[in-house]
Amino acid sequence: MLDDKLKMRLNYCTTLPSLPAVAIKIIELANDPDADIRTVCQYISLDPVLSAKLLKTANTPLYKSRRIATNVRQAVSILGTHSVIVIALSFSLTHSLMKKPVPKQSAFDNDIFWRRSITSALACRALGEKLALNFLDDLFLAGLVQDIGILAYSVIMPEEYGKIFSSTSDHDVLLKTERETFGAGHDELGYELLHKWHIPDYIALSCITSHSQPEPKDLGPNLQSCVAVSRYLAEYFLYPQEAEKMTALTKAAQDWLALDNTALVDVIQLMEIGLKSVEELFDINIHHSEATEVLAEAKELLMIHNLSRMKELEEKSQRDGLTGAYNRVYFDETLRREFHLSAQYNLPLTIAIIDLDHFKQINDTYGHLAGDSLLVTVVRTIFAQIRQDDTLSRYGGEEFALILPGTTLTASRIIISRLKDAIAAIEYKLDDRYAIHITASIGVASNNEGAAHFQAPLDMIKAADSALYAAKHAGRNQIIEWSPDTSSIII
Ligand code: GH3
Ligand code: MG
Ligand code: MG
Repeated sequence: MLDDKLKMRLNYCTTLPSLPAVAIKIIELANDPDADIRTVCQYISLDPVLSAKLLKTANTPLYKSRRIATNVRQAVSILGTHSVIVIALSFSLTHSLMKKPVPKQSAFDNDIFWRRSITSALACRALGEKLALNFLDDLFLAGLVQDIGILAYSVIMPEEYGKIFSSTSDHDVLLKTERETFGAGHDELGYELLHKWHIPDYIALSCITSHSQPEPKDLGPNLQSCVAVSRYLAEYFLYPQEAEKMTALTKAAQDWLALDNTALVDVIQLMEIGLKSVEELFDINIHHSEATEVLAEAKELLMIHNLSRMKELEEKSQRDGLTGAYNRVYFDETLRREFHLSAQYNLPLTIAIIDLDHFKQINDTYGHLAGDSLLVTVVRTIFAQIRQDDTLSRYGGEEFALILPGTTLTASRIIISRLKDAIAAIEYKLDDRYAIHITASIGVASNNEGAAHFQAPLDMIKAADSALYAAKHAGRNQIIEWSPDTSSIII
């Protein structure tokens, strides 16, 4: 919390720049819901620098107007009254503050600060553009002033703050250190300053909300979440060579705006389009020439990162959470595909259903958790025996299905009997005294083997299942192959 002492220092600080008259007028307009276009034009025309900047703004690619504004009145009609007020505020705040020389003893770098703030503003606006929001200028202003508290700290206590400011390059660490040292972070101080200047609250509050982690319920494209993500986007845009900036950005964009890396690359492109105009309008150099190349590489990395993430997610959705074997859905899909190939080209295809023997007893004797880890061990054992093209899935609780494409019944015998023996050889150590043993019964069915030609994948599963049933019946820990001649006996 901002204590009274800090508030006093802020209120009575003589080195803090006071706002120029035109800024004060514009803030008045911003707080006046009835401000009309005529009054707005009048005020802006009083300041030639501001008038020129607004004209320029209206004619930049940031506003995709087909009309060219040649006077303030036209600029205001292109941009709209509300936007003009907000844009004018962005200019007049930065204009007076950017030029202010910083006390010598301060480690604070004014140029870096404004590069960062203006990049955040550009980032925040580009996010809004990508998300089709209609308050882009508010987003720009909110992005711009979110870190104004840093400036306030560096002016009211240059020496003490300088030490803290230069101790870290990580924004979140800086905030934490400020809170520990001064009892309040630059988020709260920034809000206090903007509030003191009568900046409308919905903008001033962005200092606070952008620095708190938005709750999942706030997820979605609003001012708060855009400003929060813009910080990370600006850091990435300015320092694309630092890998951790990309990770932080990816996470923030995903968590708070549900934007994936492909969308982020679009947003960065929008930033690049607006960059030149913003650099000119604010008379600042954001990107040095070599940064463009680094950014191009970084964008490629973002895309690759996205692809591998997508693959990872896809892979995850295909696996059983406990054992890492494929899940039932994946099994069904794979069998359908392999069966089709086998039928179409008359290729051999073998499947096996593996059911652990008396598994209920294991649970009853050693507990469910021990049962779980035994399942994991069994799957690991099976994986060690099969080939890369074979698919192992968890078919049910303690039941697994194996697809062996291009494998004849004879060829499958070697693999499957080795697998049965490997399971029986497991010595699952519960503790020093006990080792749990387990066996499996296996039912096998082959397509295009002798007279066996199945109609559909499901018929193959039924056949393997009936062979499994026979294996259980015959005393467990054995393999039975389904054959057209014996099928009637088994069932
Ligand atoms: P059988 O030899 O006839 O197959 O006997 P069984 O006890 O293995 O067969 P049954 O189908 O009667 O019981 C299967 C048991 O497997 C019951 C269930 O509690 C256990 N099981 C199923 N899924 C899991 C699991 O994810 N973890 C654990 N620990 N046990 C499971
Ligand atoms: Mg069983
Ligand atoms: Mg079972």
